[in-house]
Amino acid sequence: MKYILLPCISLFGFIAITTAQNYEDQGTTVKKQGCDVMLIMQIALDRDSIGDVAMIQNALNSCFALTCDLPCADRKTGRCKIITKVVVVKWSSLSYKDQPKFHHVWMYSGAGISRAGVGTPNGKSTVGYWYRKEYSPKVYCHETMHLAGLLDHYRDCRAVSLADHVDNCKDGDTCTTAQKESGACPACKDYEQDIMGNDVRKPVDCNRDIVEIIRLANAVNPVFYCSDSCCEDTHSIDVKKTKPKINFTVGLRYTIEDSKPSSFPTTGAAIGIGLTIHKNFALNANYGFTEGTNSGVKYNKSTIVAGGSWFPFGMFTQENKPFQILPFIAAMMGSTSIKSTVTVSGNNYSSSASAFTYHIYAQGDAPFKSPVKKVKTAAFINAGILHTSFGSSGQNNINFDAGFKITLQ
Ligand SMILES: [Zn+2]
Repeated sequence: MKYILLPCISLFGFIAITTAQNYEDQGTTVKKQGCDVMLIMQIALDRDSIGDVAMIQNALNSCFALTCDLPCADRKTGRCKIITKVVVVKWSSLSYKDQPKFHHVWMYSGAGISRAGVGTPNGKSTVGYWYRKEYSPKVYCHETMHLAGLLDHYRDCRAVSLADHVDNCKDGDTCTTAQKESGACPACKDYEQDIMGNDVRKPVDCNRDIVEIIRLANAVNPVFYCSDSCCEDTHSIDVKKTKPKINFTVGLRYTIEDSKPSSFPTTGAAIGIGLTIHKNFALNANYGFTEGTNSGVKYNKSTIVAGGSWFPFGMFTQENKPFQILPFIAAMMGSTSIKSTVTVSGNNYSSSASAFTYHIYAQGDAPFKSPVKKVKTAAFINAGILHTSFGSSGQNNINFDAGFKITLQ
């Protein structure tokens, strides 16, 4: 068994459990829990004195009160977290059957160099030798990382290590003469601010340390990644971090004009432009024009409105789901110009008016596979109120648009 000899130590957050049931099978356990992965350390203190369990527990809690992201295969952030938990108990409280489920740590009085075996996640438990008097409680955190499988990441320039050809950094560099003379332990590159570097008082790093333990567990049983089902909405999550996306719509418009004494339809077309500003929100502008005749009067309407839309479930398709409707609600305001024309004895008599307008509607986008790369396509249909106000009176016209939307990626 390999021991780490340095007081360059450390590690975890934990919870004391004094009952025998529900222990994991080994000292370091990595297991799935829904989208998340649990990293559970079980440490039992031998020759414990009153207060050791609480002291070690507090030390490890201070380091491991952290939740880390478990990346998706494409290294984006999905919905997976790594939740770390440390359980510290008295060795003497364990049954013979439960003892192999714990890292066996011997407690020593006074000051010394605490050590720990380098363990294997989901492999056999290992052993540690810890001194009660340490220069920092984070020494126990560092040592616990060894139990979990991590190596030191400082260049060990002490004479005893040089004689053993210890090479923690594995970067081809060697100790300088000055470092050899002083017995220094400089951090390996990129570990200057890491608890596994040359100062255990630095923090535990999610990506270098915790994710590395999950990788070691994967080497034993490669199932601990953020699975596709937990990553499939990554793309909508990423919208916030990536550039805004622009979309265009084109469709047909059918409006039931709220005219007294009877309503009548107008028909035409509408075009729109939208800009994603968040996975749930977009800015929109629309222009539509319709035409219709009522009681011998021909109406030409053109409406321009701008506003926003809210996508309660996100606006992008989830991969591998062929049939889905992405609903949203939009609210916009602007103005409508109406030209009415009456023809009498072959002569046209026209009048025009402008009106304040608001357009509130619900829309469903039905995505379909785009024939063009970097473009997302969908069919859409919406229904809502296209209101026009003329001074004190107003019309609540019922409007339908249906057409296609393309979104540039
Ligand atoms: Zn160490």
